[in-house]
Amino acid sequence: ILPGPVAGGGRLATLGVMGGGQLGRMFVHAAQALGFQTAVLDPDPTSPAGRVSDYHIATAYDDEQGLAQLMQRCEAITTEFENVPASALSTLAAQRRVAPGPQAVAVAQDRLAEKAHFAVCATTTGVGPAPHAAIASEADVAAAPEALLPGILKTARLGYDGKGQVRVDNRAALAAAWVQLGRVPCVLEQRLALRDELSVIVARGADGSMVHFPVQRNLHRGGILAVTEVYPDHIPAALAEQAIAATRAIATELHYVGVLCVEFFVVDDGSRDGALVVNEMAPRPHNSGHHTIDAFDVSQFELQVRALAGLPLVTPRQHSAAVMLNLLGDLWWRNGQPVTPNWAGVLALPGTHLHLYGKHEARPGRKMGHVTITAATAAAARERALAAATLLG
Ligand code: ADP
Ligand code: MG
Repeated sequence: ILPGPVAGGGRLATLGVMGGGQLGRMFVHAAQALGFQTAVLDPDPTSPAGRVSDYHIATAYDDEQGLAQLMQRCEAITTEFENVPASALSTLAAQRRVAPGPQAVAVAQDRLAEKAHFAVCATTTGVGPAPHAAIASEADVAAAPEALLPGILKTARLGYDGKGQVRVDNRAALAAAWVQLGRVPCVLEQRLALRDELSVIVARGADGSMVHFPVQRNLHRGGILAVTEVYPDHIPAALAEQAIAATRAIATELHYVGVLCVEFFVVDDGSRDGALVVNEMAPRPHNSGHHTIDAFDVSQFELQVRALAGLPLVTPRQHSAAVMLNLLGDLWWRNGQPVTPNWAGVLALPGTHLHLYGKHEARPGRKMGHVTITAATAAAARERALAAATLLG
């Protein structure tokens, strides 16, 4: 699918997105820059992506008329969040190019299916998931291996940003947590001591061609990504190669098309010190790849556009060291009073790239935007990121 006017004229090639959040918004920006029109399906009339898209279809994700309109508008359709009903993607895939495909999204929607996929890939890559067990009944609670405690109980479906997770120290806490999470299918994971959290983003085309970004180092606060750092050579080469090889295998084995992000833990404990464990994957561009807009010659969003449209995938080249700071709604509040963050101060720092997502309500914990700080050296990027964080309080 080529951008711009369709041969014969009269209309522009159009790409669709299921979901209207910030990831959809940045996809729309990238698609429009290349000359595509866009259509977003999201029930929220004020969604961040819907408001910048050429077309916004404000229906439920499984609304037949909404899906029909999207197909009528678009040559190809992607998704910006993994909880789009897989059945809706199947409906779309019957008539239009859809990437990633419904099956790959379905695996990523279910932590147990996802871990099973990781375990298969581990036989060749050596990088497997954390020790875990399925918890779907009181009997499972009673039978859970002692070695998984202390652990983290996570709902198999619909968790994000640390939501749908409870830390459990013993079996009584596990039983209570399972009730607290609504007795839905869950996975109990061993709680690992973490030295680092890393992620790798790849883009894979329908022809099997694949490119990757360098390894990102991520800092989470309260289960939500807070900071991503990417400096040339900041991860030991052998570890970086292993994470990249594991991500590529996970994408290939899924016959994945589009941008895929895989999150990793670097374990910090006696017997397996420094070992890599695969945590989860996102079948879409990822928060830990936002710096690629400002620090690379091609962003994760442009690669998603290219993979979806069947355009060439080019290897991204990093031109600047980068630190990305997530901007949560908490920044708009101090001691219970509404405040406006010091944007003028932040923008006065060289190399700061502010991205606000157009959300009206600044609620605590809500992702409102991010700022990427680029610089020639890692030290300079770090120093300015610290200055920006201090200005924002
Ligand atoms: P989400 O879908 O909310 O991102 P994750 O499974 O990635 O869920 O968990 C969020 C964060 O919680 C991780 O980035 C990590 O900091 C912490 N975490 C998750 N699982 C484990 C674990 N097994 N051991 C230690 N920390 C964990
Ligand atoms: Mg995660």
